[in-house]
Order: sequence, then C-alpha cells, then structure tokens
Amino acid sequence: MRGTALVAGGGIGGLSAAIGLRKAGWEVRVLERAPEFTAVGAGISLWPNALRALTELGLGPRLDPLLTPQTSGGLLDQDGRWLTRWDAAVFERALGRPLVGIHRAHLLELLLDALPDDCLEPGTTVGSAAELDADLVVGADGIHSRLRAELHPGHPQPVYTGTTAFRGVTARTDDVKLGVTMGPGVELGVVPLAGGDVYWYAAVSAPEGSTVDDPKAYLLDRFTGWRSKVPDLVARTETVLHHDIHWLAEPLPCYVGGNVALLGDAAHAMPPFLGQGGCQSIEDAVVLAAAAARHDSVAAVLAHYDRERRPRSQRIARNSARMGRFGQQLEHPLAVRARNTLVRLLPVSLSVRGSIRMSDWTPPRIGAQSPTSPAS
Ligand SMILES: Cc1cc2nc3c(=O)[nH]c(=O)nc-3n(C[C@H](O)[C@H](O)[C@H](O)COP(=O)(O)OP(=O)(O)OC[C@H]3O[C@@H](n4cnc5c(N)ncnc54)[C@H](O)[C@@H]3O)c2cc1C
Repeated sequence: MRGTALVAGGGIGGLSAAIGLRKAGWEVRVLERAPEFTAVGAGISLWPNALRALTELGLGPRLDPLLTPQTSGGLLDQDGRWLTRWDAAVFERALGRPLVGIHRAHLLELLLDALPDDCLEPGTTVGSAAELDADLVVGADGIHSRLRAELHPGHPQPVYTGTTAFRGVTARTDDVKLGVTMGPGVELGVVPLAGGDVYWYAAVSAPEGSTVDDPKAYLLDRFTGWRSKVPDLVARTETVLHHDIHWLAEPLPCYVGGNVALLGDAAHAMPPFLGQGGCQSIEDAVVLAAAAARHDSVAAVLAHYDRERRPRSQRIARNSARMGRFGQQLEHPLAVRARNTLVRLLPVSLSVRGSIRMSDWTPPRIGAQSPTSPAS
C-alpha cells in the first residue's frame, strides 16, 4: 500500500525507517524534538546484518567509504595477555560482509543526506500519537519513548544495567587493532575508524547516577598502568562522553497498537554488550518498510512487523544482557579467573560462531509485492 507516515524521533532507527518508507513509496515526515538534526556521538560497530539492511535502504555505495572493516583483534586480560585472538575477517568469509566500526556522526550524516530537507521537522516534540494525522505512526523516540508509554501505560520503565560508559574518538597514532581488555567489572575497547580515527570506550560497573566531575581525569586515574591503549587514547581525546546505561529489561508484549509501530530503542532498548542496539533498529526499519510496501492495510503491515521483529530483537537483547553478566560485569576475582580460563581454552571457531549466527540476517526487499508473494 501507499500512505502517509509520521516518524517520531530522528535517531538511527527513525531516519532509517523514513528512508525505507520513502523507498516503499510512502509520504514521510520525521518529527525530532531536538532543535536541529545533529550528527553527534562517538563510534559504533555495525555487524553484517546492519550492513545488509543499510544496503537494502540504498545506502551501500555512500556507506562503504565510511567503514573500517575489522580484520583482526582479540580479547585481553588486564595484564595485556591475549585470552583469544580473532581473525575478524571470518565475518566477511562467512557472511560476505565484514564487522565494521563507523563514527556515529558519519552514520547519522549518511542517513540525513538520504532524506530531503522538507521531510525533516526538528524542534517538534511528539506528546501523543493521537495528535498525529497520518496512516502510520512510527515510534522511534528512543529508550524513554513517550509513544511506548502511551501504548503500554503500565509497562515497567527501563532499568539501570549496573554499567556506566565512557566513550570518545581521537586520532590514531599507530596501527591500532580492534581489542577489548577485560578486568573485574571493567571492559576497555578500542575500535579503529575510517580517516585515521579510533573509537574507544570504557564500560565500568558503578552505582546508578555516580557523579564524575571530570571523566577524563577519572579514567586516567583509574586505568593508567593498565596494559591497554585506552588510557593513552583518553589522554588525547578532547570530548569524553559519559552515560549510565539502561535497558528495557521487561520485554514488551507487542511492538504495535492502533496505527503505531514502535521501533529501535523505543521497542527494545538493550545493553550494548553485543553492539547490536543500533543494528536492530536498522533491521526494524527495513522490515517495517518492506511490510508497508507489501500489504494492503496498516493493520496487516503492523501485524507483519510485530511478528517478524519481536522474537529476534528480544532474543538479541536477552543475549546482550547475558554477555554483560559473563563479561564486563563479572567482578569477583575467582569468577574473572574462571571466565578468562574458559575464554582462553575455547576454540576461536566456537567463540565466533554465536556472533556469526546472530548477524546472519537477510533483509526483506523493499518494493511493491503482492500480498501472496513468498514471505520475505
Ligand atoms: C555506550 C553505548 C554503546 C553502543 N554501541 C553500539 C554499537 O556498537 N552498535 C550498535 O548497533 N548499537 C550500539 N549502541 C546502541 C545504539 O546506540 C542504540 O540502540 C541506537 O542509537 C538506537 O537508535 P534509536 O533511533 O532507536 O534511538 P535514539 O538514537 O535514542 O533516537 C531517538 C530520537 O528521538 C528523539 N526523541 C525522543 N523523544 C521524542 C519526542 N517525544 N518527540 C520527538 N522526538 C523525540 C531523540 O531526540 C532522538 O533523536 C550503543 C549504546 C550505548 C549506550
């Protein structure tokens, strides 16, 4: 069908949905509460599933120059000893697409550039779906979604994961490889980006709302001496971002209601331990757009979308939380030692198998199809 859509929220999920729905022939406007659409943030990893979805959105040729495929990397302990080393090219061999790092701002710029200015309405806060006049409303208004609260008034709010995260991007000075250093209650990560930059993060177990007046000084004080590149990168970083991380621990019973589809963090905000939150929001967008092209009624579009997206995205959210408990959030020294031994003994092929399975997802085609054509 063809119709009108209003997208509440202009983040990765909302912009991807707008691009997909336009490709499906819909008239789309994106309502964003921020006074302007700004491309901000640190880095983000994109798995092959998201790259395939972005390609289906038509962004492939412009995307590729912004990506830095990860060719090798590994997991280290706090003393800099390898627990496991990956041949990250394994993803490209298995799935035809690599695991990549990208500057979040570059990704947002790419999405914004694919949309005409007159469909972007910054400075517009959506209070309720009832005030929006459109065939379809997309609730892409993030983890604290108003549209989710409207659809599921009694549903538990997102909860603190127990982890606070520091992130930054700076220039590379040497040949940095993808690497993650695990300490008790700590994960320090380094991801090379295009253009000679590097994205680093520090995920740390801490009480909710812990105030850190000077994140840079805090990180340097806490991690100097660690056998990781992160302290050096922190010292050279201009702006350090710091956020407590929350997630929707209680999964939603349904992603749709009335003429509204919840998408991205509004539907399934997950802990970042698998690096899949943004990837899942792009998958959501492509599935919604393909369903919008394919079905003859909004009810059928929404039913298809919920059926396709809820099981997979909720499974990945659960696995991401589990990964955090076994990984960064493990604090007891004996548990950390046992985990490290296990990781060291596990064959690499086995340790990447789960990630390959998770990112082996093929997007449906966005295009006019008859409702009786094979399921995407
Ligand atoms: C530390 C950290 C690391 C991460 N790393 C990765 C990674 O490596 N890979 C990955 O795939 N994901 C990662 N993620 C997850 C990823 O950032 C999110 O899943 C993704 O940004 C969600 O996009 P979204 O569009 O759903 O929501 P958001 O990006 O939150 O966008 C929501 C938008 O809606 C707007 N908005 C809110 N309320 C309203 C309203 N009422 N009216 C209008 N507009 C509104 C907001 O201003 C915002 O622009 C990470 C997250 C964190 C916290």
